[in-house]
Amino acid sequence: MGRIVLDKVTKSFGDVTVIPPLDLTIEDGEFTVFVGPSGCGKSTLLRLIAGLEDVSSGAILIDGQDATSIPPAKRGLAMVFQSYALYPHMTVRKNIAFPLRMAGMDKAEQNRRVEQAADVLNLTAYLDRRPGQLSGGQRQRVAIGRAIVREPSAFLFDEPLSNLDAALRVGMRLEISEMHNRLQTTMIYVTHDQVEAMTMADKIVVLHAGHIEQVGSPLDLYRAPKNLFVAGFIGSPK
Ligand code: ADP
Ligand code: MG
Repeated sequence: MGRIVLDKVTKSFGDVTVIPPLDLTIEDGEFTVFVGPSGCGKSTLLRLIAGLEDVSSGAILIDGQDATSIPPAKRGLAMVFQSYALYPHMTVRKNIAFPLRMAGMDKAEQNRRVEQAADVLNLTAYLDRRPGQLSGGQRQRVAIGRAIVREPSAFLFDEPLSNLDAALRVGMRLEISEMHNRLQTTMIYVTHDQVEAMTMADKIVVLHAGHIEQVGSPLDLYRAPKNLFVAGFIGSPK
C-alpha cells in the first residue's frame, strides 16, 4: 500500500497557475525526492497529495482510489514538516503517542506502537524525557516518531532538516534512509538540497516552475541530464 498517482493535476491560486498539468507515478515503497529551487512548487505538490490543498483540476489516486474526496486525516498519509511543534510539558512517550491518544486508541496498542517507533528512531532511552532535555536532532526524531505510530501508507517530508545545523543534517539523512530501509514504506521527501536528493532518493523528480524537468534515479540524472537546468541543479558535467 502506498502507490500514488498524479493524473493531470493542476493548481492555481487566483489566476496564477503554480502547477500546470502534471503527471507522476510514485510506486509503493519508493523513496522519491522532489527537488528544485525555492518557489518551484514542491510544497504545493506535497500539500495537494496530503489533501491540505485541493487540486484545481486532475486527480490524485492513492492505491487506485481517487483521493480528491478523501479528507486529509483519512488518506493514510503522514506529513513531517521542518518546524515541529512538540508539547514541552509532555514526555517523549506522550508526544509520540499524541495522535493515537487523540484517536482514542487503547493504551496497550499505543504503547506497542510508541515502543516500535522509538526502536526504529533510536529513542528508546529517551522516552521519559521532555523535549527541553533533547538535542535538535532528537526533537526532530520525536516529530518523525509521531508520524510512524500512525502506520501511514506513505510519509511526506517537507524539508524536515532545514532547521538543523550541517553536521546534524548528515546524521538525520542517514537515519531517515535507515528508517526507509526498515519500514519499506513509500516516502516523498521535498528538498532544495541537491546533496540530499542524490544521497537519499530511489527516484528524483526535478521541478522547475511547477513542471517536471526530469524523473530518474540519481545515477540516471547525473549521467544523462536532459537539459542544462537539470545538469546545473544536479551538478553533473554537461
Ligand atoms: P517551494 O516549496 O518549491 O519553495 P511553493 O510550493 O511553496 O514552492 O510555492 C510555489 C509557488 O506558489 C510560489 O510562487 C508561491 O508564491 C505560490 N504559492 C504557494 N502557496 C500559495 C498560496 N496559498 N497563495 C498564493 N500563492 C501561493
Ligand atoms: Mg517549500
